[in-house]
Amino acid sequence: MFNEKPICIVCKKEIADGEIVHMKMRYPKKRGITEIKAYLRDEAQFTCEACFENQ
Ligand SMILES: [Zn+2]
Repeated sequence: MFNEKPICIVCKKEIADGEIVHMKMRYPKKRGITEIKAYLRDEAQFTCEACFENQ
């Protein structure tokens, strides 16, 4: 799905395919994002399930 593997911002672990993640991102200002993957790579921060539950 991503060119670069996303990592958890807490433990820096790579997010595995199919893993449940919690995502923090800015809601897009523009309507109709054509390149959602690029947007997510630039704007989204992922937290893995384990770290999220430990917060
Ligand atoms: Zn984590």
